[in-house]
Amino acid sequence: HARRIEGLDKNIWVEFTNLLADHPVVNLGQGFPDFSPPNFIKEAFTRAINNGPNQYTRGFGHPPLVKILAKFFGKLLGQDIDPFSEVLVTVGAYEALFCSFQALIDDEDEVIIIEPYFDCYEPMVRMAGGRPVYIQLHPKPVDGRLMTSADWVLDPVELANKFSKRTKAIVINTPNNPLGKVFKREELQVIADLCVKHNVLCISDEVYEWLAYDANEHVRIASLPGMWERTITIGSGGKAFSATGWKVGWAIGHKDVINHLQTVHQNSNYHCATGAQQAVAEGFVKEYGCLGAPESYFFNLRQELQLKRDRLAACLVSVGLKPVIPEGGYFLIVDISAVKVDLPDSKIGQSYDYRFAKWLIINKGLATIPVSGFCSSEHKKDFENFLRFCFVKEDSTLTKAEQILQEWK
Ligand code: PMP
Ligand code: GLN
Repeated sequence: HARRIEGLDKNIWVEFTNLLADHPVVNLGQGFPDFSPPNFIKEAFTRAINNGPNQYTRGFGHPPLVKILAKFFGKLLGQDIDPFSEVLVTVGAYEALFCSFQALIDDEDEVIIIEPYFDCYEPMVRMAGGRPVYIQLHPKPVDGRLMTSADWVLDPVELANKFSKRTKAIVINTPNNPLGKVFKREELQVIADLCVKHNVLCISDEVYEWLAYDANEHVRIASLPGMWERTITIGSGGKAFSATGWKVGWAIGHKDVINHLQTVHQNSNYHCATGAQQAVAEGFVKEYGCLGAPESYFFNLRQELQLKRDRLAACLVSVGLKPVIPEGGYFLIVDISAVKVDLPDSKIGQSYDYRFAKWLIINKGLATIPVSGFCSSEHKKDFENFLRFCFVKEDSTLTKAEQILQEWK
């Protein structure tokens, strides 16, 4: 095999999806809704299949989609965006991340990654020849109350010290997976100031951008002064419209940056499914007309998911577990150190949360994801007492999960 894939063969999604194939479970594991996308977007996809377009479209993005994304994000970022040179449509946010690293990271370049992080950042940086440099979100002491994701913060001095002459980019993810942290404007400003000072790019993964709960506001780092030129803002139609299997994503940024991502895209995937792009385009046209209003799907989904978050958190507390209440996103992480389980396979060298999550699947029929899967090898220990639960599920699924938790208690 090629050197670039050395040591990258393990993948948490492959491993847990395989395990679930043999075990029927209540699935609060991988992040996808188990409910249907809204009718308007399914109807748009059906229309595209029945009446076209069914053939190839423009490789860098179906024109109706890049046009509405440019208009939509132009408004949100306060920035004129050219649909044809500053928006790239990709096969999911995954491909937007892949194109970013492949296009911009050279051998030995350093990329700062904030822990815990969506797992693929690390192998993608390595595959591009780069060197991940980690900085942890540290929990603040909370005096007995429940923790929220806002209690997990970066130390600005530690962050500043991570920037070196070799730093090419920093990856941020807000709302964050797995913690649910929504970075505040001031926190983003600290990162932005360092990016400007050191002439560093920012790869901003914002796939959960519509899901900031309570009074939390999703702030786009590309909208801060001096950041448009150096930020790639990544989003996901699958996450926006609860249709994760459609795999429509995008990267938005200055044309001098996006044109390099286009080079990778045209020499790899080249194209994302036309019908799915057409449907997502129609979805955004509809949402543009009602942004923030009660008839907006983004608005309604956020309200619904906030209730699901509260419901799952309350259940976890009632059985003696400690959830970290997320400010946004699909997930919450739970401290399991209070649960004493005699895990059979303690000798196989896997971390405690991995073994716990597998035991939970096999013995209790409940799927979750171990949080050490979202950390570098040197920091796995710090997170091995946490499991990640996905709450973007039907109420009936949450009820079944609650029954399992209650009976077990
Ligand atoms: N970034 C984050 C933080 C994610 O959680 C995911 C998974 N949905 C992705 C990117 C990939 O998104 P997509 O399914 O659009 O490829
Ligand atoms: N983003 C989703 C999660 O974190 C799905 C990941 C994936 O499909 N690789 O669970």
